[in-house]
Amino acid sequence: MFESRSTPGRELTIVRTVEDLRKTITKWRAQGLRVALIPTMGALHHGHLSLIRIAQAHVDRVVVSIFVNPMQFGPNEDFERYPRLEAEDAAKLREVNTDLLYAPSVTVMYPKGFATTVHVAGVTEGLCGAVRPGHFDGVTTVVAKLLLQCLPDIAVFGEKDYQQFVALSHLCADLDIPTRIMPGPIIREADGLATSSRNVYLSGEERQIAVTLSRVLRHIASEISNGSDDFDRLIAEGARQLGEAGFRNVEYIEIRDSETLKPVTTINGPARVLAAAWLGKTRLIDNMPIARPPFSPPPL
Ligand code: AMP
Repeated sequence: MFESRSTPGRELTIVRTVEDLRKTITKWRAQGLRVALIPTMGALHHGHLSLIRIAQAHVDRVVVSIFVNPMQFGPNEDFERYPRLEAEDAAKLREVNTDLLYAPSVTVMYPKGFATTVHVAGVTEGLCGAVRPGHFDGVTTVVAKLLLQCLPDIAVFGEKDYQQFVALSHLCADLDIPTRIMPGPIIREADGLATSSRNVYLSGEERQIAVTLSRVLRHIASEISNGSDDFDRLIAEGARQLGEAGFRNVEYIEIRDSETLKPVTTINGPARVLAAAWLGKTRLIDNMPIARPPFSPPPL
């Protein structure tokens, strides 16, 4: 059961075209209402719903988009088997008083002759960008389109996909898109596994093993937060623990600056530890902030 704010009289409207989306938003704008957009690929869970609640605290109307974006999947990735559950998603959206569901088709988003790619350089290189060529171009292109179709005051993105959040913040700043990009903290299952639409791929046994990823990251983040600078040892140990637990391929475990995503070898400001690893046929990603207490000089 999902929590709901009770606001009698609000209904979930579903639209599937840019024209219908803009009609509804224009009406809201004429009433002076502020609007948020939460882009998703559906198969909604508590992580998505947490972003809606963050948005509701800032604006009057919340639009959720559901679009399984073919442009961000590689040829051997899970586009075909990605869960598509619109009726269940709509029910969840109603329970949390979402105002509008925008669910465009592939032809609405990419009509015949579509020829534009939006590329954010720098922060999309490395990490997931290194192992999923073209993925971030697919993300930044579709989100640029969604933002321009909707022109929301704010858009909320989960820190679960931290590199994506940084890339989308760049996108809006660089292209003067007048939307404030806000982060939402990672929502986790009771044992610490980051909630994800892809967790349904995990077998019972894999689900037990999956928790090791968040445990390893929490250990690395806490060791570094407590003063360790031996990143190489911590990362090697973490990769070994994942392998021993049953992960078959650790794509990366890295310490990066939280804003620039540049590799760091010592902690001088906000940083994160980020990782991606395969468990059977499922690719899991996770990340955690490294919080070193601020340095205070000794009294004179
Ligand atoms: P997706 O449907 O996986 O493309 O995700 C849509 C949005 O929900 C993205 O901004 C994700 O970062 C965010 N999201 C997905 N899982 C979580 C989670 N466990 N906690 C917070 N946000 C999440």
